Amino acid sequence: MPEQLAKDEIVLEGIAASHGVAHGTAMLYLQKELDVPSYDLKPEAIDAEIERFDQAIIRTREEITGVRNKVAASLGEGEARIFDAHLMVLEDSALLDEVNSELRTTNKNVESCYNKIAQRYISFFSSMEDEYLKERVTDIQDVSRRLLQNMIGLKKSNLGDLAAQSIIVSEDITPSDTADMDRTKLLGFITDAGGQTSHSVIMARSLRIPAVVGLHDATKKIQSGDRILVDGYDGIVVINPSEERLLNYGKLASQRRKLDEIYNSVISEPSETKDGTAIALMSNIEGAQEMDQALAMHSNGVGLFRTEGIFLRHHGYPPEAVQYDEYAAVAQGAGDQPVIIRTLDIGGDKTLGDGNEQEDNSFMGFRAIRFCLENQDIFNTQLRAILRASALGNIKIMYPMISGLSELKRANQMLEMVKSELRAENIAFDESIEVGAMVEIPSAAAIIDLLAEEADFFSIGTNDLIQYLMAVDRLNDRVAHLYEPAHPAVLRTLKTIIDEANRLGKAVSVCGEIAGDPLYASLLVGMGASSLSLTSSMLPEVKYLIRNTTMADAQALVEEVLQINDPAAVVRRLEDFRIEMIGRM
Ligand code: PEP
Ligand code: MG
Repeated sequence: MPEQLAKDEIVLEGIAASHGVAHGTAMLYLQKELDVPSYDLKPEAIDAEIERFDQAIIRTREEITGVRNKVAASLGEGEARIFDAHLMVLEDSALLDEVNSELRTTNKNVESCYNKIAQRYISFFSSMEDEYLKERVTDIQDVSRRLLQNMIGLKKSNLGDLAAQSIIVSEDITPSDTADMDRTKLLGFITDAGGQTSHSVIMARSLRIPAVVGLHDATKKIQSGDRILVDGYDGIVVINPSEERLLNYGKLASQRRKLDEIYNSVISEPSETKDGTAIALMSNIEGAQEMDQALAMHSNGVGLFRTEGIFLRHHGYPPEAVQYDEYAAVAQGAGDQPVIIRTLDIGGDKTLGDGNEQEDNSFMGFRAIRFCLENQDIFNTQLRAILRASALGNIKIMYPMISGLSELKRANQMLEMVKSELRAENIAFDESIEVGAMVEIPSAAAIIDLLAEEADFFSIGTNDLIQYLMAVDRLNDRVAHLYEPAHPAVLRTLKTIIDEANRLGKAVSVCGEIAGDPLYASLLVGMGASSLSLTSSMLPEVKYLIRNTTMADAQALVEEVLQINDPAAVVRRLEDFRIEMIGRM
């Protein structure tokens, strides 16, 4: 229940998802279905109706062209191509002729005629076998929504048109929503739904913008234009914050800035424990545009390149050339440092809107390597692009969602086939490219020795591993309290995976969100992880902590917490440990 404090101040409590404090104007982003009106026209009104339709098309064309140019300037021509397809849909003469004749025969308003014809096209293309034609469904949906909004005169909620200094208030934000967003204008976001490891939250952390999720009904309590304060440390949102509260938060922000200065002071120092054991601190990225930040943070390479980012920004399956450019840019940016490119992990909360997402249990469904092994053309294209880019840098390949040895074998067989193709075409690639498996499904965690036959290294994806181990959907706010990285089952499983990998001489890293959480980083190092891959923005703090911890301290911590039964007590011990290592700051 919201707590009524001062006259207008309302406090909402949710889950702290990304640290920081923001104060700004709320912008409601609702994905409600459009209510398309339907009414009869008098015959003498038909010409004016057609004129109204033409005007709406002109306005929509200007809008799409505007977005296209913006995307071309910021992300390149490849990413902008999708909007050329949108313009073609908008001006498709067959569709427009059908709308006109529908209007003249039924005398209904043009929105309802257009909607009817567009829906007919959508169901026609949805039933197609051909992947390319199926993809047209999303184009028609996007374009018809824009055009209808222009005709109905609704104020649009478009994340691409964010006003400056906005805080987005939404039921949920998906990675496809954020792909179009002007992130520079975003101050923070809050959602009704969501858990700590949803991909929109991961994005917020990498941008260092505060986020509070799991608020249940914030979209009902907040209106666009409200002044709100988001406290991403404590998971609190305040509508109409009082002057006194703002002053207190101002002090908090300045304390935070001082801490950042302390953490940043070690950023160019080696990444090692106090007693000199090297621990590679690598970056999690979603595209080449994040390399500048990774380099600025002196990251030891890329430990997880989530390639879905390229696909989401492209709104579909990008051709080899588009992918190659991106992988090559990352490899060249990283110089000699390794770049671990994870093959496509589409599904779960990352969908391309192409109909593949219609599953009841999408996180346990047709996702990642399962999708790639059945869509060989898409997988081959990606493997070719990665292999070609491997000639330019220190690239490694990693497969997501491996559940058993046969999947890993099949993926490697496909990789070998692509290598043979490239050899036959005399195209250069790294012949000794390393291949790794993500360990994020409990069945994989239990067979590290078997997977080791086919993998050069392992990377533990704790975001998924925890959700599958504990049967807690990582996006569901109602069970978010059960998502406990400090649960003994999680800690024991992590220890087993790392011990097994080390016993077999395979490098093992952690790339889930806990790798960038200062509470867990030393614990993972103590367990024997040789590297951590995290959002670049957390690198200074984690490095500061590790440089102040000896290996013996970290190992003793592991022994100690493995004896504790209660997750809350584990968290308290981790908090105390952190203070013992770096002092109360
Ligand atoms: C994970 O599951 O921990 C992981 C790193 O992958 P993602 O968050 O992209 O599923
Ligand atoms: Mg995962």
